Amino acid sequence: MDMRPGRGRRGILFVFTGASGVGKGSLRAAAADALRTVIYSVSATTRARRPAETDGVDYHFLERAEFERMIARGEFLEHASYVGDLYGTPAAPVDAALAAGRDVLLEIELAGARQVKAVRSEAVMIFIAPPSLAELERRLRGRGTDSEAKIQRRLERAREEIRALREFDYLIVNDRLEEAAETLRAVIAAERARAWRVVDDEIDAFLAS
Ligand code: 5GP
Repeated sequence: MDMRPGRGRRGILFVFTGASGVGKGSLRAAAADALRTVIYSVSATTRARRPAETDGVDYHFLERAEFERMIARGEFLEHASYVGDLYGTPAAPVDAALAAGRDVLLEIELAGARQVKAVRSEAVMIFIAPPSLAELERRLRGRGTDSEAKIQRRLERAREEIRALREFDYLIVNDRLEEAAETLRAVIAAERARAWRVVDDEIDAFLAS
């Protein structure tokens, strides 16, 4: 069967949720081969840019008023407040990519992930967990970008998110990075192989060939 995109098959929407500091970025880098064809959705946020971050690449860094205008205009697929800042996924680029048959990856916290699942029930929900809360705390501190109060609030959010992990389709524990990347590659391959994704046009083309 011809499985190339372009016969009307929509892209897959992958959602990564996991505490800040859990290593979602490192995992993406380690599985870059599998993610090469997956478009990373750049979120908007009101959070201050960290020195290593680039506007338009890591996030679209916005003033709160601009973010609120986007909410009012209904431009977000989802949005949520996290430890004092607003974060949201601009809907238009995601919809355009999926319609063109491209797979898309969102990296968002729990409230946003639930909103996505409510409106896109076919989204593939992947929870990234730390090996332990002590290790998560060590990683958050090691990053050296947050105040003690913010670290505590981020740890509290992490505990809440872990309580919700059974809402997700897959769990990846980011302990040994290469093993976590291997699991992620397997998840992507399995999801692409799901039979229900095949559309009528592909079957018709196959039968006519
Ligand atoms: P950070 O400030 O560490 O970059 O991100 C804080 C949290 O916000 C992380 O859990 C991250 O996944 C989440 N986040 C990033 N972008 C979005 C977004 O567009 N929507 C939602 N709901 N959460 C996001």
